[in-house]
Amino acid sequence: MRRVFSWIAWPGLLALCIVGYAYGNALGHPILAYNVTYFGMAGALLLLERLMPYEAAWAESDGQTRQDISHTALNKGIGQFLAGLAATLGANEVAPAAASGLWPAHWPMAAQVVLGLVVAEFGLYWAHRLGHEIPWLWRYHAVHHSVTRLWVVNTGRFHFVDSLIATLFALALGLLVGAPKEVVVWVLAITTYIGFLTHCNVDMDCRGLNWLFNTPDLHRWHHSRLPSEGNTNYGENLLLWDLVFRTRYLPLDRRPPVNIGTADPVPLTFLGQLAYPFRRHQAPIMDAPVLEARAEAGGD
Ligand SMILES: [Zn+2]
Repeated sequence: MRRVFSWIAWPGLLALCIVGYAYGNALGHPILAYNVTYFGMAGALLLLERLMPYEAAWAESDGQTRQDISHTALNKGIGQFLAGLAATLGANEVAPAAASGLWPAHWPMAAQVVLGLVVAEFGLYWAHRLGHEIPWLWRYHAVHHSVTRLWVVNTGRFHFVDSLIATLFALALGLLVGAPKEVVVWVLAITTYIGFLTHCNVDMDCRGLNWLFNTPDLHRWHHSRLPSEGNTNYGENLLLWDLVFRTRYLPLDRRPPVNIGTADPVPLTFLGQLAYPFRRHQAPIMDAPVLEARAEAGGD
């Protein structure tokens, strides 16, 4: 029975959220539908993390739950504020008018959303990859990688600057090709659902999905302390650009490391984490000490 659940959990929960959101939209309650699916997905994954955890050690508290929720709430608040500001300034009307005429508005909505996901993913991929490869950007992204366990609650643990950069990269591309607001909203919703699924500590068997989507199988390697393993699988929703730019990484002969995190001295407090990227004298990122620490710890 657990094998069956393991196999259907990822596509099943995503499908339930998409259907629920579409139904709420059809009834004229998109915000309610989004919140029901958002908290429904989070609640279902919290339950499954208890019933069928992938890594038992990650069920233990890391003392960061309050900080994780604070980052998530801050990012959600900033996102809603900017969306409200954009609506007030009339961006909803301006964006389609400014479109280059490239967008296939006559396509069925589902196909437009898939196209929107592909376009947004290019921005998300490069925002994420540059966050790993450019030292001053890494200081923001290190807040996310400082977690020592993966579970549904630290899905949204991003420094707000890191989160803003990724959103702006994706939105800029969407606006450039003239994606309508409805498509943008759908892409944002699906990004939330897949984000939860990617980060959860549930024993899921994703198999063929690992070639199409960012999955927990792939993302656990992304949180490795080893640069050769961690600087891979940058996709947020889709794996397309990891395949194109050859950054997909999924060895099938071993499990991802349990001892995840970063050697960067990210503070334990929420305010300390917010201030961390702005402080001077940062330690070099993912360098020799990381490798030495892992060697002392006995490898994986
Ligand atoms: Zn990362």
